[in-house]
Amino acid sequence: MGIIVEMVFPKTCVGCGKIGQYLCEKCQNKIEIIGADYKNKKVEGRIGLFKYHGVIKDLISLVKFELVSEAKTEIGKMIAEQLRENYPNILEYWVKNKFVIVPVPLHWRRKNWRGFNQAEIIANEVGKIINLKINNNLIIRFKNTKKQVTSNKIERSINIKDAFKTVGKLPKNIIIFDDVWTTGNTIKNIIKIIPKNRKIWVLTLATGN
Ligand SMILES: [Zn+2]
Repeated sequence: MGIIVEMVFPKTCVGCGKIGQYLCEKCQNKIEIIGADYKNKKVEGRIGLFKYHGVIKDLISLVKFELVSEAKTEIGKMIAEQLRENYPNILEYWVKNKFVIVPVPLHWRRKNWRGFNQAEIIANEVGKIINLKINNNLIIRFKNTKKQVTSNKIERSINIKDAFKTVGKLPKNIIIFDDVWTTGNTIKNIIKIIPKNRKIWVLTLATGN
């Protein structure tokens, strides 16, 4: 199936339309790379990688709506390259201390509807390249986050807070992974349910609104 789709629709760059890759090298070099200023006593650090706009946004959409499954391979490579180039010491530390990548889960109902979780898909690609284990079964989302028009900010955050729980024994060292960090609320609420004696890092492909 993949081959046929590729023959009919050749891979074209989401940035400039050049044939061959979903994001050509020239456009990759134009992407804004960002760090992060997020501070939390429980978290050793957060890497936000790319700014969530332009071609990065387009590339994430390709994976999210599964228009092309090969886009995930390119994204996985990009993340690994960025980590190697800009955060080699952190990467070495993760590998040495056997950090386990934990993708932010989707609620099962939403996952069934869409059929997959894009954070999981991208995390799998990254893990293969940088040699870190992935575990999709440690944290579950057991309730849909309700968007209530009437609820105020506090109520809304409670709704999200209640949506995660841990399953079984968590590894000592964890990297929480998601495709996009916007308000950070989802990840912050996952951090809250992780016991204090764990080492936590946060890694997202993109940061922004
Ligand atoms: Zn391009």
